[in-house]
Amino acid sequence: MKNNPFRHAQFLTSAPELRKMPADTGAEIAFAGRSNAGKSSALNAICDQSSLARTSKTPGRTQLLNVFGLEEGKRLVDLPGYGYAKVPEAMRVRWREVIDTYLRERESLKGVVLIMDSRHPLREFDQQMLVFCRDIGIACHCLLTKADKLSRSEGARTLALARKEIAALGSNATAQLFSAPAKTGLDEARGTLAGLLTA
Ligand code: GDP
Repeated sequence: MKNNPFRHAQFLTSAPELRKMPADTGAEIAFAGRSNAGKSSALNAICDQSSLARTSKTPGRTQLLNVFGLEEGKRLVDLPGYGYAKVPEAMRVRWREVIDTYLRERESLKGVVLIMDSRHPLREFDQQMLVFCRDIGIACHCLLTKADKLSRSEGARTLALARKEIAALGSNATAQLFSAPAKTGLDEARGTLAGLLTA
């Protein structure tokens, strides 16, 4: 993509709850995934910035909605990584509620990018997220990250299988291979996100 619209992403705010989110206008895309799946790396790669999503990793900020502003009232929202070992159960439940409410009620939300490690995609959380998006009618695009760890044929097989499993869940989510260090699938990801933001 020649003019990468994500290049100018800037950290806007870390919201501990929905009331603290920027005004619900314009268009927004949320990034979700199990912790360690490669969400921060994907955000940084898409935005062509080396440390944009570092904020989301800062101690104390891992359980917040981290918001990045783009041009023309568009935003990317980094949701807390699911499965943080150190988070107590009660907090996990509360966070689940915040995220569910965010996904269900946020008017400006145009889509969810679901980050999954291509070596073990569609774990329980991923399936729940796909079904949730299906039920509330939110578009979902899956990035199968760390594709550089797979051979070309393994990658093709993984992608075909993931698409089949997604369809079997009754989801119409799209999926692609992605690698932050190898820049695999960057243009495809940017194009899909840009399309969702302007739909
Ligand atoms: P997050 O917890 O989902 O935000 O995951 P991170 O982006 O912090 O990545 C977790 C680990 O996986 C880090 O060690 C990254 O360097 C590594 N990683 C992330 N994306 C890729 C990728 O596309 N390829 C490879 N080989 N490693 C990756």
